[in-house]
Amino acid sequence: MPEVPIEGVTYREFDGEQRLATRGEPVYGEPTDGEWRLWDARRSKLGATIELGLETGLSAGDGVLYLGAAGGTTVSHVADFAGPTYAVEFAPRPARDLLAAAERRDRLFPLLKDAREPETYAHVVESGLDALVQDVATRGQAEVAVRNRRFLADDGRLVAAIKARSEDVARDPSAVFEDALATLGEAYEVLETARLDPVHADHLAVVARPLSGDG
Ligand code: SAM
Repeated sequence: MPEVPIEGVTYREFDGEQRLATRGEPVYGEPTDGEWRLWDARRSKLGATIELGLETGLSAGDGVLYLGAAGGTTVSHVADFAGPTYAVEFAPRPARDLLAAAERRDRLFPLLKDAREPETYAHVVESGLDALVQDVATRGQAEVAVRNRRFLADDGRLVAAIKARSEDVARDPSAVFEDALATLGEAYEVLETARLDPVHADHLAVVARPLSGDG
């Protein structure tokens, strides 16, 4: 079991297994152990990325922009250890659950916005953030990350999950990932990648840092 290099994230025993956990109010019916709650990597691409041991660069107290928050499953864990956490989701239905999760977290700020249009939330989200976490599972995922680079500090990190089938259901995922990495290269230097299969089929985890001067 790799040690998690993020203060506030640890492994705890749940049902006889060591599983990722953060400290906070439960959100999606996950089991708890005292103040700790299971961070289910099977339901979270970021959780799976951390379990694989990628160096996400995430730290306690970080300022985070999270794109594709859905009902708040993963972003609620992020807000358990991070600082101000801006959660962008454009679908009203999951956003309702996200609002409920945010009610019990004073560092989680939900934004019902389209991540392809960062100018619509640039007046709310501060720039110079430590991390951009992305899981939008929509066509043009790499382009979304490029457009939102403006919020990241020069030494910040992009931690993204790219879903091949959202780009093209018929194409070989490796070819889709190659194209996505080429697009990311317009604004980022890719530091690490890993396939999240079989836990998250046809997903690529990417850790990258902004190219200087692109902000
Ligand atoms: N990250 C979530 C988690 O782990 O809890 C799951 C995210 S789900 C795979 C992808 C989400 O991205 C969906 O809720 C979808 O509505 C949202 N999404 C897709 N395109 C978006 C966009 N352009 N702007 C904002 N949200 C978007």
